[in-house]
Amino acid sequence: MATTKSKNPLGDDPTRTLTIRRKAVAEIKRKYTEIKRLINQSVVTNKIFTNVDPLQKSDFVFLRSDEKLQEFDRWLQTAINQIILTGNVNPRSPQLNWMLQYFLEGYERGAKKGNTQLARFLGRNKIPVTTSVLQNPFHIDKLQLLFSRDFTQLKGITEAMSQQINYVLSEGLLEGLGSKKIAKNINDRVDKIGITRSNLLARTEIINTFNLAVINEGNYISSIIDEQIVYEWVDSGDSRVRPTHVLRDGKYYTSQKVSELIGEPNCRCTVVATPISFVPDGKTVIR
Ligand SMILES: [Zn+2]
Repeated sequence: MATTKSKNPLGDDPTRTLTIRRKAVAEIKRKYTEIKRLINQSVVTNKIFTNVDPLQKSDFVFLRSDEKLQEFDRWLQTAINQIILTGNVNPRSPQLNWMLQYFLEGYERGAKKGNTQLARFLGRNKIPVTTSVLQNPFHIDKLQLLFSRDFTQLKGITEAMSQQINYVLSEGLLEGLGSKKIAKNINDRVDKIGITRSNLLARTEIINTFNLAVINEGNYISSIIDEQIVYEWVDSGDSRVRPTHVLRDGKYYTSQKVSELIGEPNCRCTVVATPISFVPDGKTVIR
């Protein structure tokens, strides 16, 4: 049976999640800027390392610096826990971590999209309307797993950032750098590790959760209507698409196969849930 071409007319944003991604990136900046502000206040304004004299690099000074380093690291962990790793990973909790809230938003949209796509093929009367994914145990199970994994990634980013902060701080103390210079070096690590990696995680995961939700909704509907649902790959149709993803455009995949393909860093491709009876003649389903 033939189907209409599902190529997305929206240029480089086939998942239509650009607004969510922008909001996430803005909040990432706000959160890490707060950490930088606290670091500057500690190191520059309050001069917590002020008694480190660059001219006295004796063992005694080093040991005392080491204690200070440990104290600073403890303080930094508390700040990170309160600002970045705040909240929990339970999708239904009002205290859901702030970044996971954006992923939930992406997932909600994806589930609705998958539902609409299937209704378009089979008729609205055949497909139960999705209300919220949070009312569907099928989706909640998947979200819990996904959010634990995402939170571990966010935690990993803050750990890498802390390690580097600790390194530039101890280097700065050993070299006898001034507090302003040390704070600048620390802030640079917040930017390059904390913000950069968090942005990549958010951009990638908002699209990934959207696509995962399309697939999960397809699997859910499939179990109700007793027909296999497959997924057509749709790239963003611009010059930034990976050549390997251009080759996937317009091809059909099983849910298992397509689940393995989505979620690459900065990938903006999407998938269209399609009942197998609507796969155009001559097209094979890749499994
Ligand atoms: Zn892609």
